[in-house]
Amino acid sequence: MKQKPFLLAAEGLNKSFDGFKAINDLSFYLDEGELRTVIGPNGAGKTTFLDLITGRTQPDSGTLEWDSEHDLLKLNEYEIYRLGIGRKFQTPTVYGDHSVVENLILSMAGPRSIWHSLFGKVTAVQRDRIAEILKTIKLYSEAHRKAGELAHGQKQWLEIGMLLAQEARLLLVDEPAAGMTDEETYRTGELLLSLAGKHTIVVIEHDMEFVRQISQGRTVTVLHQGNVLCEGHVDKVQSDERVIEVYLGRKSKAA
Ligand code: ADP
Ligand code: MG
Repeated sequence: MKQKPFLLAAEGLNKSFDGFKAINDLSFYLDEGELRTVIGPNGAGKTTFLDLITGRTQPDSGTLEWDSEHDLLKLNEYEIYRLGIGRKFQTPTVYGDHSVVENLILSMAGPRSIWHSLFGKVTAVQRDRIAEILKTIKLYSEAHRKAGELAHGQKQWLEIGMLLAQEARLLLVDEPAAGMTDEETYRTGELLLSLAGKHTIVVIEHDMEFVRQISQGRTVTVLHQGNVLCEGHVDKVQSDERVIEVYLGRKSKAA
């Protein structure tokens, strides 16, 4: 039987900033439906890797293939976004003066004007889809509140909802638990777990308790100096001598 192609395949990526190798001969393969956690110390190149995938930064060399037919290095940021690669930055970027529902409608809009998406007709199909997303991100009862008034955790969930509204096939989520309470962090983990399988998700994270919550039975990738130091199930990764050494001396948080 022919093996299913990878949704995303990165091979031999390199990226230097003023002679400093932020990404060093990095290869990374992702199956459709995976929930993959990427950990690694500060400066390991995690965010830069997302910049390369989303076309924000161009690598010096290497290949980035999407769904075995698109060369991402030939596309610009907008074209990559249109392929269904959505990104959530660490700080929430919601439209604070608009309601939760309006934020979702705006994400659904695609090429239509903002004016049209806010004041034009929302189809019944779109309405159902928005209701479903509101339930998924647990903001149904906050639907008509201004996004700017939401708690920090709720804003992060809204942003994940906006990726869903965009119909992103791949969700790139950079440090979602940063600044969250323990309760919010746990609920974020539940949200990501509920999306796994239906979407493909890459989560970059520092909080090891959170990593354990979302990674049971899944692959964790450890980046170090722009390269994969270790990859495997979370228990294997956490007991790996090289991983422990990289984190040695780092207090409280292991990643
Ligand atoms: P991480 O997200 O794992 O903490 P980053 O990808 O943000 O790491 O950074 C990796 C390294 O690349 C760091 O040393 C950082 O200073 C450097 N770097 C990242 N982006 C730039 C840039 N635009 N210009 C110069 N250096 C950069
Ligand atoms: Mg980072």
